[in-house]
Amino acid sequence: MSSTSPAPVPPEKKKKKKRVNVRTPEVMERVQAEVEDHYRSSIVEKLRARAGSITIGNTTLRLAKQFGFCYGVERAIDLAYASRRVFPENRIFLIGEIIHNQEVNRQLEEMGIVSLPWQEISEEYDNLGEDDVVIVPAFGAPIAFLDKIEAQGCTMVDTTCGDVMKVWRRVKTYSKSGVTSIIHGKAGHEETRATASRALGDDKKGHYLVVLTLADADYVCDYIRKGGDRDEFLKRFEGGYSDEFDPDLHLAQIGVANQTTMLKSETEEIQKRMCDAVITRDGNDEGYQMFDTICGATQERQDALFEMLEKPMDMLLVVGGYNSSNTAHLVEIGEKELPTFFIRSSECLKSLEDIVHFDLHKKEEISSYSEILSSDKPITIGVTAGASCPNNLIENTVLKVFEFRGIDAAVVESS
Ligand code: SF4
Repeated sequence: MSSTSPAPVPPEKKKKKKRVNVRTPEVMERVQAEVEDHYRSSIVEKLRARAGSITIGNTTLRLAKQFGFCYGVERAIDLAYASRRVFPENRIFLIGEIIHNQEVNRQLEEMGIVSLPWQEISEEYDNLGEDDVVIVPAFGAPIAFLDKIEAQGCTMVDTTCGDVMKVWRRVKTYSKSGVTSIIHGKAGHEETRATASRALGDDKKGHYLVVLTLADADYVCDYIRKGGDRDEFLKRFEGGYSDEFDPDLHLAQIGVANQTTMLKSETEEIQKRMCDAVITRDGNDEGYQMFDTICGATQERQDALFEMLEKPMDMLLVVGGYNSSNTAHLVEIGEKELPTFFIRSSECLKSLEDIVHFDLHKKEEISSYSEILSSDKPITIGVTAGASCPNNLIENTVLKVFEFRGIDAAVVESS
């Protein structure tokens, strides 16, 4: 990450910040009608009202208690739609994707909202002007991107989720007291990149290190306890630490924070192992701080899935964008217990026996053969979805399952 971080814009080049409130009552009335029209599902609402379970013939479908759009995503979508209403004639851009869902991003594209590269400040940013509007997505963006947009004089509509900003406040506090932020997350994820830029602090002298897996955490813990090969360390975490980060200097005081959408149990384990390592080295935990920054929505969806898994089911379908971190963690939880398929939409259910899905281990979309849906016996299918998945995609999945089981949409709607 350090090697790709864009250079900060010099203060003298910065123009005045232009931020606007696009959520006026008149605008929001129209926006809410549009958003409902695009993403609402009467069947999902009906299922919710029936404690998430419906049985027709020998097919039972169960929905997790918490699934789909979270408050942060709803707000980001509202703001993006409102921007189009408030600036009907202006060019509107978006840094990367508003959220990790193809369907939502397609709708924004249809509204003429153009996605800008999010990995680096490319020349497209140089071409932005004062009449342009730029939307910052729910995951936020690195400080250098915001500086650049302001320097170009654009109007900024910032949809960053409050829970993400909470993490930023925490890592900034770490940097002020000389504590290196250990960020549990994916180094290349938009949110983690944004958080890492805040971990440098206002004076840009702070440090961070991104760890993704328990194996990464163990490697760091070993280094904390007894040191090791500095070059090997830096190679292993290449792209995931601040400029001039030195494991021999900057692991003296560490503070753990996490990408808001990580697997809670894994984050807790990483916190525990890091703390133990510091205690072994120092004889106390004064060189260790931590703050649980997993957001409420992520936690609720994981907890709801654990609850759903307490009763037996034959198969779990997890609906969401393949690049959605919180959705992938739901898949991880499910696949430990039963056949679980990570699908981006109902179109992945190709036939009774052919399911196209994302394999988290191979990191690619594959096609699998399964006899579960074609069974003559009574079956129970569980469905859940990540925080960026709209209800209409969940409804299509529910209807497709019943259709394959010989039950058409009208029957489901009237049940
Ligand atoms: S998943 Fe959590 S952090 Fe991300 S937008 Fe939703 S509420 Fe905010």
